[in-house]
Amino acid sequence: MHKRRVHTGEKPYKCEECNWRGVDSSSLIHHRKRHKGEAAKKEKAAAAAAAAAAANSACKILSLISLILHFWWKMYMVLEYANNPRILTN
Ligand SMILES: [Zn+2]
Repeated sequence: MHKRRVHTGEKPYKCEECNWRGVDSSSLIHHRKRHKGEAAKKEKAAAAAAAAAAANSACKILSLISLILHFWWKMYMVLEYANNPRILTN
């Protein structure tokens, strides 16, 4: 028969991450699993945020490149037109 500690208020198993206290190791293990789940969730959220930030910066870089290319192409066309005005009429 499983015997429980009868002394009320005696909770020798303490969680290191919060103020939780428990009377047996199995409930502590059960409790610690919750922290692991939270940590995994936080890790996932952080990874998602990092990926979003990377995608955002990649998007910014791409739009900057396209802006530069567009500008460069315009300049090129202007210079080409200046060198050879017939280029657009033909
Ligand atoms: Zn805890």
